[in-house]
Amino acid sequence: MDSRKGIALYGGTFDPVHFGHLRSALEVHQILGVSETRLVPANIPPHRDSLSTTAEQRLAMLYLAVEDSEFLKVDDREIRRQGKSFTVDTLKSVRQEMTQDAPLSFIIGADACVLLHEWHAWESMTEYAHLVILERPGYLAHEPAGDVADWLKGKLVDDPQCLSQQSAGLVCRMRLTQLDVSATKIRDLVQRGDSIEYLLPRDVNRYIDKHQLYRKVQT
Ligand code: ATP
Repeated sequence: MDSRKGIALYGGTFDPVHFGHLRSALEVHQILGVSETRLVPANIPPHRDSLSTTAEQRLAMLYLAVEDSEFLKVDDREIRRQGKSFTVDTLKSVRQEMTQDAPLSFIIGADACVLLHEWHAWESMTEYAHLVILERPGYLAHEPAGDVADWLKGKLVDDPQCLSQQSAGLVCRMRLTQLDVSATKIRDLVQRGDSIEYLLPRDVNRYIDKHQLYRKVQT
């Protein structure tokens, strides 16, 4: 892989990964023209209660989802690192592996961005990477406020091409194909015994079925 064109990282719980994640990752990849876009599953997300699936199961589903993709990869460093997953640590460690002036971008949904001020060392993230904020169906009213809004202001650019001109430090909002799919919706459907076909890759659906994931009510 030639990392000089840059890398994009897409963090999440991916419990399970679905077409909302995959389509937006692919579109960002194409818009930025990076060498590689990596889905980075969190180990124990600091903002989520305990999950019904293991990190290994979420990881296995991600590998199945990108198996045939030329552009999308999986980066399992947060799971290997164990403990809580802090994005800033991930950005720092990927940055250390890259050519110094190559762009690194971190993709985040608008819903997650509203809670950015709760993330560990959130203001340092742009020392290592750009931030790409994705609009998400149903979350249009979710605008960052207070400290996050002020912090974003000086970094916002309209043209995504600006992100290829420097290694880090900018923020760009993107409106992509809107797929109103969420992992919560998928878990609820499975629990009710309804089909989740066409919301996520077929092999991921089969994995969920085979391992009987999401069937029990979470406490
Ligand atoms: P859950 O419903 O369990 O909260 P999720 O579907 O939001 O899960 P996550 O793994 O929590 O998935 O999300 C990872 C990232 O992907 C977040 O930044 C989130 O905003 C974004 N994201 C999830 N679904 C979509 C979608 N349909 N379109 C665009 N972005 C999405």
